[in-house]
Amino acid sequence: MKTVPETFGSLVFGDRVMKSMLSAEVYASLKKTIDEGASLDIGVANAVAAAMKDWAVSKGATHFTHWFQPLTGITAEKHDSFISPSPDGGIIMEFSGKELIQGEPDASSFPSGGLRATFEARGYTAWDPTSYAFIKGKTLCIPTAFCSYGGHALDKKTPLLRSMEALNKQALRVLRLFGNTTAKCVRSYVGPEQEYFLISKEMYDARPDLRFTGRTLFGAKPPKGQEMDDHYFGAIKPRVAAFMDELNEELWKLGIMAKTEHNEVAPAQHELAPIYTTTNVSTDHNQLTMEIMQKIASKHGLVCLLHEKPFAGVNGSGKHNNWSVATDEGQNLLSPGETPYENAQFLLFLCAVIKAVDDYQDLLRISVATAGNDHRLGANEAPPAVISIFLGDELSAILEAIEKDEPYEGTKKTVMKLGVHVLPKFNRDTTDRNRTSPFAFTGNKFEFRMLGSSNSIAGANIIINAAVAESLKIYADRLEGAGDFETELHEMIKQTISDHKRIIFNGNGYDDAWIKEATEVRGLLNYRTTADCLPHILDRKNVEMLTAHKVFTVEEIESRCEIMLENYCKTVVIEANTMVDMAKTQIAPAVSAFAASLAGRAKVKKELDPSLYCSYEIDLVRTLSKLTDLIALRVDELQNALIVLHEAEDTEAESVMIRDIVLPAMCELRVACDEAETLTDKDFWPLPTYAEILFSVR
Ligand code: ADP
Ligand code: MG
Repeated sequence: MKTVPETFGSLVFGDRVMKSMLSAEVYASLKKTIDEGASLDIGVANAVAAAMKDWAVSKGATHFTHWFQPLTGITAEKHDSFISPSPDGGIIMEFSGKELIQGEPDASSFPSGGLRATFEARGYTAWDPTSYAFIKGKTLCIPTAFCSYGGHALDKKTPLLRSMEALNKQALRVLRLFGNTTAKCVRSYVGPEQEYFLISKEMYDARPDLRFTGRTLFGAKPPKGQEMDDHYFGAIKPRVAAFMDELNEELWKLGIMAKTEHNEVAPAQHELAPIYTTTNVSTDHNQLTMEIMQKIASKHGLVCLLHEKPFAGVNGSGKHNNWSVATDEGQNLLSPGETPYENAQFLLFLCAVIKAVDDYQDLLRISVATAGNDHRLGANEAPPAVISIFLGDELSAILEAIEKDEPYEGTKKTVMKLGVHVLPKFNRDTTDRNRTSPFAFTGNKFEFRMLGSSNSIAGANIIINAAVAESLKIYADRLEGAGDFETELHEMIKQTISDHKRIIFNGNGYDDAWIKEATEVRGLLNYRTTADCLPHILDRKNVEMLTAHKVFTVEEIESRCEIMLENYCKTVVIEANTMVDMAKTQIAPAVSAFAASLAGRAKVKKELDPSLYCSYEIDLVRTLSKLTDLIALRVDELQNALIVLHEAEDTEAESVMIRDIVLPAMCELRVACDEAETLTDKDFWPLPTYAEILFSVR
């Protein structure tokens, strides 16, 4: 049996393998490309490709693929074998630098949101040397970006890499002003905590709603849910433990540092957190993690649900995006440091994030907007749809003292001057951490908690990187032109605090009073649904910021908006159709059959003894008959709502109709069916119940 250090990263063409398999010159040249974005010449690419192929073949690989992340939500791959005919009639295993650098998948079957109409149908994939190649099954997977021949991004990686470059550029400008002449690059880092449900495959197979939509569209509240709080951090059940063991092993082989695993609040809910790494690699790793979770679950007779809200009334699943910025020399720019200069630099980066989150609340909300996540944001376990920042009382008090030029008690009653005084040590204890805040500062990083469990983390990080780059650009512009650096710095920090303190909130984000204060007093945005927020991606200030930093072109923003709206509409329409089908062919017939059986039993009893009331049976028959009539009515209403959708002029209008007509009709149908479930004999009920599903894995 091999130890973890022996198998860790064994399926990754990582730094260690590169060093041992490439010549010193080729390695140095590749390293320069990885670290500094230098362009790669074909000679080097050929040498890397040959080494990659030899390594992959030695691990049993026969094929290679350009692995990419189209706008469908999952990853895509098309396998080509290494096999090439040789002159003597045999075969050789070949892989050229050209094949490594560029591929040409047929772009026409991937969503392009209108880009295809104006540009070419063809697209190409381009190697991303900053994310290591790896082996999955018998295939060497090469992480790539995916673009149209017109140069438009058709994927999630391209804008993510662009946003990292924008942040790098502006952060370096600021660092130079602080006298840092040695840092070569600044990157953002992310550690995403992934929540998921594990249920038994048998239960899953018996529920068309889970199979078609990933969530239960019906289901009465079980007698026991999460109210006892006895699942969180509880002992992990043997079947789940076996799943986690195998999952860890597979992730480790791929160099994914899965670190913590525990039960979550809801029954059958769990969490996995890896150790943080660069945002780009972390995004690739999170996509792989989600894929491998589902694969390993099925080997164990389980199904891994990544939907944001698989069960009504039970906590949904999110993803916590822990984000920081650091230099290639290892300095975390969100860490307060020790000296007055480090403190001042920290405060400026902190302010850059505060300003970014306030100025681009809408984009952050949009970056996590899906039909699934709408069920979670604003429900009582997730952060609300209103975005705010938690800083903790001490850091907030320091900022307030700076804003007002007042003494802060930790500074021995002196008025703080940035760049001169040392910041008081503030409490970085995590015990009093606010868990309800959508965007929380946790000592040396920010935790953005609005992501849904199935979201790619690319979307949110594109926006965080770009918006922070924008704040830093404004700061750098001012500081570069300033007469006295320290005075200007002090003024700028003061101004940021006074302009953006409305976004800082240290209280309970679930509280209704907060939502009222946030929206009515502070003027913060509250986009409750995807239909509400998505069109705002096209607001002028957003388009200007994203295009100025070359993260997106105008056409790319328009196309993404269209694709996201379309996804929202399609998702809900599939759910509605599934509900109609289940209500008509499973639920109504079951309730009716049970009522008929009751009526039959009443009849038999009455024949036996006409003086019997049989009120249990007869009353229930009446109630159930009324309910089946109501179900039939609600089905009609929902079907009519779906028909009305055809009148929508465009996708935006359709999304509004979905929000206002279809989703409410789905709720009404569900209420009637869930009521029927509570009255129907279990032997007649055609679906596994919530209690059966949630407590199915032991
Ligand atoms: P929790 O939030 O459960 O208390 P931690 O704060 O230890 O757990 O870490 C949660 C996640 O944050 C992990 O994935 C961890 O690797 C990541 N993380 C820790 N430090 C940083 C950092 N400087 N930048 C980005 N992510 C980080
Ligand atoms: Mg956390």
